[in-house]
Amino acid sequence: MGKTNEYQPDRRKFLAGMGMVGAATIAAPALKAVAAESSTVWAEEHEIVIIGSGFAGLAAAIEARNLGAKDVVVYDKMPYFGGNSTYNGGLFAVPASPLQKKEGVQDSPETMTADQLKAGRGVADKDLLLHVAKHAEEALRMTLDAGSEYFPYLQQLGGHSVPRTYQTTSASGAGIVQPLVQQCKKLGVQMVTRAKFDHLIHDEEGRVIGVQILKGHYFGRDTEGSPVNIKAKRGVLIATGGFARNVGLRQAQDPTLTAEVPSTNPPSATGEALLELFKAGAIPVHMAYIQTGPWASPDEDGFGYVSNYSIYNFAHSISVFTRTGKRFMNEIADRKTRSDAQLACRDDAGNPLPPITITSYKHAKEHPTMKKVLKYGVGWKFDTVEELAAHFKVPIEPLKAQIEEYNGYVKSGVDEQFGKPMEKAKGKYIEAPFVVIRNWPKVHYCQGGAKVDVLARVIGSDNWKPIPGLYAAGEVTGGMHGVSRLGRCSIPDCMVMGMTAARSMMKA
Ligand SMILES: Cc1cc2nc3c(=O)[nH]c(=O)nc-3n(C[C@H](O)[C@H](O)[C@H](O)COP(=O)(O)OP(=O)(O)OC[C@H]3O[C@@H](n4cnc5c(N)ncnc54)[C@H](O)[C@@H]3O)c2cc1C
Repeated sequence: MGKTNEYQPDRRKFLAGMGMVGAATIAAPALKAVAAESSTVWAEEHEIVIIGSGFAGLAAAIEARNLGAKDVVVYDKMPYFGGNSTYNGGLFAVPASPLQKKEGVQDSPETMTADQLKAGRGVADKDLLLHVAKHAEEALRMTLDAGSEYFPYLQQLGGHSVPRTYQTTSASGAGIVQPLVQQCKKLGVQMVTRAKFDHLIHDEEGRVIGVQILKGHYFGRDTEGSPVNIKAKRGVLIATGGFARNVGLRQAQDPTLTAEVPSTNPPSATGEALLELFKAGAIPVHMAYIQTGPWASPDEDGFGYVSNYSIYNFAHSISVFTRTGKRFMNEIADRKTRSDAQLACRDDAGNPLPPITITSYKHAKEHPTMKKVLKYGVGWKFDTVEELAAHFKVPIEPLKAQIEEYNGYVKSGVDEQFGKPMEKAKGKYIEAPFVVIRNWPKVHYCQGGAKVDVLARVIGSDNWKPIPGLYAAGEVTGGMHGVSRLGRCSIPDCMVMGMTAARSMMKA
């Protein structure tokens, strides 16, 4: 990687066609709004400066220390570490993993990449996906070394052709973030909260040599913080996550994502650091591909309890449109397929009519989230199909027929209605008593962001080469996943690309 024509093969022809004015317009944004070194008074100097303390930032910090970096600092604007990564469901896709070997599952980085390319609908970045898949097991090992704990079985989840997903025993990304934060502290990484990245600082040649941080920042209040300039000897890594909570920015990409569309993300996912990358000349990629999560519930805020519950249970459940009593999708198709199918469930006036997902109680109770779903009133238990149908106003005869038909697929192992892989549904018939939840998609993940190469270097729009000294990893980057990210693939993406950035900086 790294050759100009790998990023934009027709760049020269394109510029020639535009003439000099057009070329100047393209080149102009690079580093324009970024402070220059000559006017800078440095408050601190560090070997490696990392902005953001999610999976990407933490993995980078640990890897950098493991590779011998003496002075690594992580800044986060919030009063706590972890961002989206803490809210995360702790579901981690790893191909050719130790658990797959134990369970006899045939898999490879190439197979996982093929699944992801399918979800990405032809515009995902194969090189980046394959790079991540090949190194995902190293990332898993980093979490195990730090003390993360996983259930001793794999899950087969939406869009994955085989079971390959680990889940933390806390069913949360906190089960990874907390051990990684502890590991950072143990390794002597400096961890600073309430420190908001404001802008990049470059030298006369355009190399990024530092950042301005607002120390003492208080997110959501008027306290902006005091500006301090931080010099970075080896490089700056931007790992600030996505922009799902920036309604203006997401609506500028997709006008349907109004303030009325809820999000699973924490309030910190506002994307201002991404805009700074663009000011520095980074190439925006796939900004309009903003993913909604088909496992969310309209009956609770954010990710809530239902998301993890339905992610686990979809494989052996049926989702039913309440007007017809019939299934309307493969319950473990990729996210976009399912979200689109759910969004089409409406009443005569076009108002949302959230579909229901029905699971046998005896199977639902195998996952710890069921208790919370029932306790907090976002899921309901019914002893008979008649009670269930009456509660959700579902036509009873079509529903009974649907359950019987689906149970035939459980027996035969072939879903003739929607082609759902039935491996994880084996022997799991839909039988009373039932647990039922409602689903409706929420804004969940930003496929778009800054363009990087497989060395996690940010690619600049003025010459289509890496911007010296500048790296990005995690959800702030764009293009890897295409139209729709295959679920459980962000943990490997963020961690591997964070580790990759550290490796690149240590070689720089
Ligand atoms: C509810 C939920 C569940 C999910 N479940 C899964 C799952 O099970 N498996 C999976 O693979 N993916 C999952 N995802 C997706 C995944 O969690 C995210 O894509 C991932 O956590 C992003 O990690 P990151 O390191 O890029 O950013 P983040 O974890 O978002 O971290 C970015 C950090 O940067 C900080 N920051 C932002 N701007 C600034 C600034 N200007 N200055 C300083 N700091 C700044 C933020 O405060 C934050 O702490 C889930 C996402 C959500 C929201």
